[in-house]
Amino acid sequence: MYPAAFDYHAPKNVKEALGLLGKLKDDAKIVAGGHSLIPMMKLRLAQPKHLIDLQKVPGLSGIKADGKALAIGAMTTHWEIESSSTVKSKLPVLAEVASVIGDPAVRNKGTIGGSLAHADPAADMPPVMLVLDATFALQSKGGKRSVPARKFFKGPFTTALKPNELLVEIQLPAPPKGAGTAYASFEQAASGYALAGAAVLIAVAKGMITRADLAFTGLADAPFLAPAAAKLVGTQGGSDLIAQVTSLAVAGVEANDDIHANADYRKHIAAVAARRALTEALARAK
Ligand SMILES: Cc1cc2nc3c(=O)[nH]c(=O)nc-3n(C[C@H](O)[C@H](O)[C@H](O)COP(=O)(O)OP(=O)(O)OC[C@H]3O[C@@H](n4cnc5c(N)ncnc54)[C@H](O)[C@@H]3O)c2cc1C
Repeated sequence: MYPAAFDYHAPKNVKEALGLLGKLKDDAKIVAGGHSLIPMMKLRLAQPKHLIDLQKVPGLSGIKADGKALAIGAMTTHWEIESSSTVKSKLPVLAEVASVIGDPAVRNKGTIGGSLAHADPAADMPPVMLVLDATFALQSKGGKRSVPARKFFKGPFTTALKPNELLVEIQLPAPPKGAGTAYASFEQAASGYALAGAAVLIAVAKGMITRADLAFTGLADAPFLAPAAAKLVGTQGGSDLIAQVTSLAVAGVEANDDIHANADYRKHIAAVAARRALTEALARAK
């Protein structure tokens, strides 16, 4: 399978990349790790006339700790996140999730920015961004803007990114004191993508839950936060309440139905993943 013909550009800095994006707009596609875009081009699902390769652009990768918060460059690979001692100490759930993405080859080339910009409805990172309340720094020739992760994912393979914008950085606030986080998923056996997965952040103070965020991936067109998790706030949790919350969280969801899993099965495994992630996050919070 060969992609359609395209012109290749290798900008040497962000300014040059943004200049090309501003000029070529919808005719161009950024290529980061290439692990999602190149397969789509080979299948002719994407046929950009120009590819703008970020591999030689300095300053777009790396993990910075800013106080208790973290800033991760868009070109940082899944492997760099999985193996970072800074990530492991500040936001261990990020390293855990990065470590279940695809296989070593995918994690060595695939980037966090590529994963978020691609917005595959079954990707592992997006629900984690929702519960951690991340902010994405987007840059165009005209300047920078910040978009909360909670407003970034618009639908399958659709985000708030404009054709002339680059995702440059992912900013993650420190979770509240006493917070526990966790991710659980059922993977599609061949790729590792989530048939359904759930990310959770639970904060506890004086034995009571003060914040509970639960987000799903794989279940619907885009990752989403489940409002039902708020029922845990002001309680101590407990298995019966968690079971109620997970049933409520998937009830009424228009679930994806495809060759890998039908809608009812997806809702069932999403609820199980949510129960596991809530239970684990609560145990870590205490
Ligand atoms: C065999 C296989 C298994 C996989 N398994 C999993 C899995 O289990 N879980 C999972 O979550 N993912 C999985 N993936 C996807 C993997 O995580 C990819 O690395 C990721 O989706 C895309 O990252 P990339 O850097 O390769 O992006 P690319 O393929 O280079 O780009 C993807 C899209 O994002 C855009 N883009 C990239 N970077 C930017 C940027 N900085 N600003 C604006 N737009 C940008 C591109 O234009 C393109 O449209 C798998 C992929 C493969 C091939």
